[in-house]
Amino acid sequence: MAAVATCRREGEEATPKTAAPAAAPRSLRDSSLLIVTLDTTRRDVLGFAARASFAAAQTPALDAFARSAVDFRRAWTVAPLTLPAHASLFTGLYPAVHGVRDNLGFRVPEAATTVAERLAATGFETAAVVAAPVVGRESGIGQGFASFEGPSREDGVEEWPAQKVTNAAAAALGRIASGARPFFLWVHYFDAHAPHAVRTTPAQGRTGEAAAPYDEAEAYRGEVERIDRNFGRLLALARSASRGRPLFVVVAADHGEGLGEHGEATHGHLLHEATLRVPLLMQHPSLPPGGCDVVASLVDVMPTLADVFEWNESGPVQGRSLLPSLLEPAARGTAEARPVFFESRLPWHEFGWAWLDGATDGRWKRVDRPRTELFDLDADPGETKDVSDQWPGRARELDAARLEFERVCAGAKPLPTRDGSASALTQLGYVAARTALPGDKSELHEPKDRFALIALRDRGLEELARGRFDVAVEVFEALKEQNPDPAPGTLLIAVARSRQAEALPDGAGRTTALQRAEAAWRAAVESCPAEANRRFNLAQTLLALGRDDDAIAELERVVALAPEDATAQRALDDASGRKRAAGNGGPAHR
Ligand SMILES: [Zn+2]
Repeated sequence: MAAVATCRREGEEATPKTAAPAAAPRSLRDSSLLIVTLDTTRRDVLGFAARASFAAAQTPALDAFARSAVDFRRAWTVAPLTLPAHASLFTGLYPAVHGVRDNLGFRVPEAATTVAERLAATGFETAAVVAAPVVGRESGIGQGFASFEGPSREDGVEEWPAQKVTNAAAAALGRIASGARPFFLWVHYFDAHAPHAVRTTPAQGRTGEAAAPYDEAEAYRGEVERIDRNFGRLLALARSASRGRPLFVVVAADHGEGLGEHGEATHGHLLHEATLRVPLLMQHPSLPPGGCDVVASLVDVMPTLADVFEWNESGPVQGRSLLPSLLEPAARGTAEARPVFFESRLPWHEFGWAWLDGATDGRWKRVDRPRTELFDLDADPGETKDVSDQWPGRARELDAARLEFERVCAGAKPLPTRDGSASALTQLGYVAARTALPGDKSELHEPKDRFALIALRDRGLEELARGRFDVAVEVFEALKEQNPDPAPGTLLIAVARSRQAEALPDGAGRTTALQRAEAAWRAAVESCPAEANRRFNLAQTLLALGRDDDAIAELERVVALAPEDATAQRALDDASGRKRAAGNGGPAHR
């Protein structure tokens, strides 16, 4: 098996020894850069990448773009999770090294070096527009961007629809593309993420016909088509804004969507192609367009851009430059089998089930969950048949590559990570993202055997969204009983009780509801005492009950657990200030 991805250190070669160092033409280096990330977009939902077994969406804008681009047809994400995948795209590092293993409880460390930081240092005007708080400012992904816009959970906004994102991107282009300097704009679309909203057509609006039965894949396709229309508009805006300077464009997804394949509705709990295989396209007027079958990963984007824009990347990078394939159609074949890696810790973080590891060399793919499966992606792209018994040597090779990869990652001194803020969110369904992994997962539950519990959780969340709080709590109680350690049900009951109290007007009924919420949060804290997030929510409930002293004591524990959390500190300062102003004789609380 050919070279395993390694961590490049200062002084080492930027490109693998088998490839001649590629020099970027001057027109590449002098370009502006647009990166568009399509959240939750399966490669095969796009028209140009359609497969017989899956109905694609109508994506004329992306199809036209793909015809003019280098299409990396065999590209994988590093994790079917938004923040880890974006962190890898912008740092060239796998999650084991940049340290972002999940969306909640992790943030991109300051010590990481991102594409935006490198380009800002070489004189680029930079701006980002994101569509969801999971890649918001709090996530740390924005380091290096002079301007960073998107919805914030503190404002109570969970998502910007594509049109709002494109409008904000147009305004950002007006600011960053007006001068003599090149620009780097990152735009993130989130519409294709669950929940998948039913497509509304003008015809339905006119006739008032009853809607067809809900079809998840059809709703998903409608969301992808909305992104496509916005992508077309964005591309035209960026090209006209770049004013004679060529534009280098990267389009990628962070991960796909299960849509029921292998029993997975969304993403994160399995490592199948529906969620791992991503579109990855790079385009520039000087590059010959065409399909590329070189095995690629999102970690390759950063080192490719380092070669394109010729910054001297001295930090550790695990991906490898795809520039030779961009420049030379002859370098787009399958000659070299190179393993790329993926993981998901979500099953462990959320339910205490086995976490997932995998690797592929483009044809053979091995997944450990903890059962080991081997798939021949050429013969069986739907991954219906485990062939590890027929091809034990292939399974062993990928296992050896994975072990070598883990050894290299451990030696690369993972970046110091900081936990995410305690107060920004109570993400539904998450338990304890900071729980350390046990050494061995062989005794843990196989996630695939427990999917009924994910369905149960989702049913509770639906009841919660409908405002049927008592029914939601009943469902979460059942979840708690069936998955007691850790018990996501315990946290979800507390969330439901808080929502129930918030929905009531002031009065005696509300006080009773808040007391039930307090009891639920106390149970949630007890089951995971080191989790600042839960304590913050308990403190908020105590404040709502007017019990400032108890709240202050709890907020002090939050600040001790999450000292950099500005919101928790502010809440503590406010409560302490109120207490002093009330002049109740107690010492000033700091
Ligand atoms: Zn995502």
